[in-house]
Amino acid sequence: MGKAARTKTRDNVDILIINAKELLTLVDTEAGPRTGKRMRELGIIRDGALAIREGRIIAVGTTREVSRFYKAGYLVNAQGKTVMPSFVDPHTHLVFSGSREEDFQTRVESTSNTDTSVSNFDLLQTVKETRRARVETLVELGLERLDAMLMHGTTTVEAKSGYGLTTASELNILEATKRLNQLHSVNVVSTLMGANFVPPEFSGNPDAYVDLVLTEMVPKAASKGLAEFCDVCCEKSAFTSEQAKRVLTKAKESGLKPKVHGDETGRWGGAEVAASVNAVSAEHLVYSSPQGIKALAAKGVIAVLLPAVAFSMMTRKYADARMMIDNDVPVALGTGFDAECWMENQQLTIAMACHFMRLTPAEAITAATVNAAYAVNRAGEVGTLEVGKRADVLVLGVPNHRFLGYRFGVNLVDKVIKNGRMVVDRDKQDEPIFLSKTE
Ligand SMILES: [Zn+2]
Repeated sequence: MGKAARTKTRDNVDILIINAKELLTLVDTEAGPRTGKRMRELGIIRDGALAIREGRIIAVGTTREVSRFYKAGYLVNAQGKTVMPSFVDPHTHLVFSGSREEDFQTRVESTSNTDTSVSNFDLLQTVKETRRARVETLVELGLERLDAMLMHGTTTVEAKSGYGLTTASELNILEATKRLNQLHSVNVVSTLMGANFVPPEFSGNPDAYVDLVLTEMVPKAASKGLAEFCDVCCEKSAFTSEQAKRVLTKAKESGLKPKVHGDETGRWGGAEVAASVNAVSAEHLVYSSPQGIKALAAKGVIAVLLPAVAFSMMTRKYADARMMIDNDVPVALGTGFDAECWMENQQLTIAMACHFMRLTPAEAITAATVNAAYAVNRAGEVGTLEVGKRADVLVLGVPNHRFLGYRFGVNLVDKVIKNGRMVVDRDKQDEPIFLSKTE
């Protein structure tokens, strides 16, 4: 067949990526979140290519295979670069007002390594400012944060409420979250976390606050379609196992999927609660017991680990991810973005997981993509590069996946494709003026 004839038979696609040094598909023969050794399998295609049409991936393979059948409206030459699924961030408190840099300075100046707990005053400051903020203001704040996440390669993010702690304010946060999902190209998955901690009006009477969460927040969030998940903080400073179970049982009856914050500051049974209610995920898990970890494995509960939270709190204590992986707990990684841990970048999460938790780069990448997608119930759509999935794709300006973790502190993202649209393209940006030496 002559060259002209062959070209004629090639189908047009919107975006064709070719020549990737490594293309990480994250495709596995078994379904479900990855555990154990499977967390190291990135499904790498060398000299990889990917074809995108109408927002979906329609072909993945080597450059030779894919370019035989497809030609591009927009061609991306990924020579020397890494192509992979964009990041999913399965744990943030995206929507709050105010900031806590004074609290940070206090932590830095603290003479004790152990006395790094946040004072109630600082937490309450965030609650106060969030309650005062109008929905429009919360949306504006959220948009800026989503921009930062997108620039660093995150295209799906879970957003938990939890800084309102009244029914009206929690619903405002969820309303803002819904609008953010509509307005921004990043997909935002909404979680009600009215039971984040006990607000001052209920101090000394946490059961009465739990009743408010059960009788007002959960049913209203569910009936208005404002949340998909419900999360509870099971810690000494927040709610007991029994209270957490009450909230999550009611949440499940109302159609919300359960999640648990647990064992961040001590062994308070968070992992056990998550297993007992068949939660989708258990999050933090710094102090979880071996039995708790085995219970998570037995129920297939995903451990969402947040190294940046421990880093920002300066506790020097990280979740035992190696023990979890050895026990076949599926591990995911999130930023833990909130007013205490102001960090939007999943690349840095990966670097911290490698350095502080001894995850290999491959395990950390699995944890921040496909396993994170399972943790927010989006694995049918995103988290891997395979035919039929949504085209949420990153081109990184590095030759292989180990640079994630190894090279940190700068943004490795070269391009972000979201729903088949190029939303970040650093080749198209104007060159910084300090590069111009010709004048
Ligand atoms: Zn949290």
